[in-house]
Amino acid sequence: MSLRPFASLASFRSPITVGLAVLAPMTVGTAGGASSTLAIGDARAALRVTMSAPTATPQSSSVDGPAPCPADSVPDGDVCVHLPDEDEGAEDPSAVMTQTSSHQDKAGRWSLYEQIPRRFDRPANYDAYRYPVACDGCVVSGYDLDLPDALQRRERRLRQVGHGGVDLLQKRGTPVTLVAVEHQRGEAEVIYVGPLFGTTVATRHTVREGGQLHDYVLLFGHLDAPAAGVQAGTRVKDGDAIGYVGDTGSPSLVHLHFEARRVRDGVDASKLGPSALVDGSSTVVCDPRNVLPLR
Ligand SMILES: [Zn+2]
Repeated sequence: MSLRPFASLASFRSPITVGLAVLAPMTVGTAGGASSTLAIGDARAALRVTMSAPTATPQSSSVDGPAPCPADSVPDGDVCVHLPDEDEGAEDPSAVMTQTSSHQDKAGRWSLYEQIPRRFDRPANYDAYRYPVACDGCVVSGYDLDLPDALQRRERRLRQVGHGGVDLLQKRGTPVTLVAVEHQRGEAEVIYVGPLFGTTVATRHTVREGGQLHDYVLLFGHLDAPAAGVQAGTRVKDGDAIGYVGDTGSPSLVHLHFEARRVRDGVDASKLGPSALVDGSSTVVCDPRNVLPLR
């Protein structure tokens, strides 16, 4: 989806304008075809719209109103909206909607970035998900890169703005275990162990979305240490040890930073160094609620 060209940066001066400027390109130029209803934030965004509106059948011709929708769909106005099967993953690739957002750095400059906001079909409540650490209300800071600048987290000295993952509060030394992501195919693979968000382990997960395979990278940050045997190339499955909660790179708070990123097509994440792993040209940061398993 083409999000460019953007309005001049001057139009990003207020958070309200940001929201509008970001949304506007998403709904322009999609007339015709199923994507015409795929506005960001539209509750129908992740559903495939059956374009043939339900027409009256002989059985219903004597009754006012549209015919009922097929079994795997629900009526929405004049159309039937297809509901994804269990196994269809995130459905149509357009459901994995990359959105361009922006925030101001400490010098007041606006930076634009792509991010994948939470899909409408995923619960907003962080307690609905299963995490790499035991977690009952332990999410102390959530994903906010989809929010207007003024509502994003500001690090104390403003060195960082926004938060691309979730921070999970747990005691030092608590085991961190892998979570298989939604619609994952096969085992995951450790692709990086080393400094990034403090001591960090990165794993690659292949996911079926809309009939195609895509890779996601999960990042486990601020670890006290990686688990024994965890190194690039290690195959890991749900429940396998990844490391231990710590405060490396985060001396003020012992916690796990957990982040999910969608690997751009054609990129081999196992060949990326730590900075490239979180570079928007290789991977797109994603609301972790899109991929975390539900409890
Ligand atoms: Zn964090």
